[in-house]
Amino acid sequence: MTHAAKVQTHFGQGNLPADLLKALAYLNPEEIRLVERAYAFGAEAHAGQLRLSGERFISHPVAVAGISAELGLDAATIVACLLHDVLEDTAVTKQEIKRGFGGEVAEIVDGVSKITHLKAESHQVVQAESFQKMLLAMARDLRVILVKLADRLHNMRTLQYQSADNRRRIARETLQIYAPIAQRLGMDNVRRELEDIGFANLYPFRQKILADMVERKVGQRIKIMNKACETIAARLKLADIPHEIASRRKNAYSVYRKMHRKRLHFSEVLDILAIRIIVDNVDDCYRTLGLIHSLYKPRPGYFKDYIALPKANGYQSLHTVLFGPQGVSLEVQMRTREMNEVSEYGIAAHVAYKTDAGLQWNMDNVQAKEWVEGLAALRRQTGDSVDFLENLKGGGLVADEVYVFTPEGNIITLPRGATALDFAFAVHTDLGLRCQKVIVNQRLAELNHKLQSGQTVQVLAAKEVCPHPGWLNFAVTAKARLAIRNQLKHLHKNAATELGKRLLNESLKALDTRLDDVEPKRMNALLKVLGLDHDTDLFAEIGLGNQMPALMARRLLGEKNRLWRRSSRKSKSLPIKGTEGLAITYAKCCCPIPGDQIVGVMNPGKGLVVHRDRCNNMRQSVRHKNMQILLEWSSDRPPEQEFPAAIRVRVQHKRGMLAVIAGQIAKTQTNIENISFTEPAGAVATMTLVISVTDDKHLKKVMSDIRIVSKSIQVERVK
Ligand code: MN
Repeated sequence: MTHAAKVQTHFGQGNLPADLLKALAYLNPEEIRLVERAYAFGAEAHAGQLRLSGERFISHPVAVAGISAELGLDAATIVACLLHDVLEDTAVTKQEIKRGFGGEVAEIVDGVSKITHLKAESHQVVQAESFQKMLLAMARDLRVILVKLADRLHNMRTLQYQSADNRRRIARETLQIYAPIAQRLGMDNVRRELEDIGFANLYPFRQKILADMVERKVGQRIKIMNKACETIAARLKLADIPHEIASRRKNAYSVYRKMHRKRLHFSEVLDILAIRIIVDNVDDCYRTLGLIHSLYKPRPGYFKDYIALPKANGYQSLHTVLFGPQGVSLEVQMRTREMNEVSEYGIAAHVAYKTDAGLQWNMDNVQAKEWVEGLAALRRQTGDSVDFLENLKGGGLVADEVYVFTPEGNIITLPRGATALDFAFAVHTDLGLRCQKVIVNQRLAELNHKLQSGQTVQVLAAKEVCPHPGWLNFAVTAKARLAIRNQLKHLHKNAATELGKRLLNESLKALDTRLDDVEPKRMNALLKVLGLDHDTDLFAEIGLGNQMPALMARRLLGEKNRLWRRSSRKSKSLPIKGTEGLAITYAKCCCPIPGDQIVGVMNPGKGLVVHRDRCNNMRQSVRHKNMQILLEWSSDRPPEQEFPAAIRVRVQHKRGMLAVIAGQIAKTQTNIENISFTEPAGAVATMTLVISVTDDKHLKKVMSDIRIVSKSIQVERVK
């Protein structure tokens, strides 16, 4: 009988290590069987892999599961701990985890892997706090963070097997990212251990000196402390307040951080050693406080009521500093048992709770909800916008923000739903205005690509790019929208000025004169009447459709009025190139393309709108002949310029017909911009397609190619 088989007879098929099995005593037999299965699965997946310590790799996931078991986490989390490295380090897929252990576990493992992966990609992250938030935002399920913390804790416990460089790097990252996350979640025990190991590895000398100083100070004080504890205990007993009393010391890193942050000398850190009193209820906390203040004088300004006003991470307690025996400062903390649980296990104390049916993981847990809501309320009071916990709602982390990297490793914070274009504007307005292409995680993406936390975004800019009105459809940040609007307004005005000048000149030509020949005094007189400063303002007004070019030409010429009446028939068409920019729009009702007879309508504020001359819409809307401008397609249009054209196709309804027609269009190198499909009435199906064409010849070619598909097919241009 092999060793494995022997153990199997004791512990079932999973061969679960005895220590872990013992720590999981709070799970029910069915859950234990699931954990055993996960262990067997993980052990097989990692078979042959070793840790740097020389142990079998599976010892690591087992240790991580053990840490989570100490926190009393649910079966799904324990299973996820056992499998947390299989996606990253073995051939196992998310699908296989889902099949074997359910979607919940698969999602947690996947979340942990994403964070692990992220860390590997971005060594040079500068903004630790944003990085913390990014991790939290990426973890839709808080259990992902709990598994990751347990993973990190075990890696810290086995840090001695890493190279000196790695030790320092991992220690720094732990102090900057993971210990603060543990603190945010109120998991004090985890935080302390991460800090102790991290501090000793990152700054061995400072750690040693401070630890010695703390030790010495504790040595000097411990007698006084014990004496004070006895006095207090006796007084509480007399008042009939049941309690536990103990002393607690700050860890060296907390002292270091406090000195650093508040620029204090070591001797000014008063709470290195504290007395902690745990009582049954909140009333007793305040009664205890009163009794203690009658025993020893409080130091003014040091009393803190974190029961009425909890800290951002949910911590509650009463803190006071006393003038103790021999004038020594004594910090005393008073709290209930529940508050103590929260201070040590943090969110884990809330989200997992024991019932008869086993352990429940539940963010619906009333207590957890209250905790979270309390934090949100607190956040509003204090205006502390950095607190991610506002986002803790409805069973997981639902962040309102996404955090993405620049190629240099800087983190940009954007609102949820923000696109690559928003990112470009967030980096710099000029980058946004010139944004041509974006690369998201090394792949080319559209400007409207919705960003997700953890992605790396690179923007490629080009001088010739200018904002398109369509950008406003997917730019969501105020900064981007404002910059785009301003730039469009500017471009529109420029284009309108140019068009207006051309229109005025054409109207003057019809009167046998040119703009250059207009007398300056006549121009100035007209500007004055219109309340304009400069001739370019007049051109812009014409281009925007606010003034009619023919009328303006007549007024510029004054007494030559009659001449105008006579020669107006000579009025020529204005050539259109299709490159005029924002001053000219093409009517959506008739979709004019080169080759069509066209006519322009001046729309006040909008400028020149180009219609086909047979467009009914246009005929109805134009009341005044003066608003119409004769147009023609310019012969020196850029050949690649494309225009949308709408066609309607009627065909015997058959499955896959749409694909056949779309394929046929694609063969002619023509883009389809839009397809709408009417449910077949009887046997005939109708679809309307908007395609991009260069001119009417191109359109005719496409239409005749579509006709090849079937004899019964009807194709016509939408009028
Ligand atoms: Mn791991």
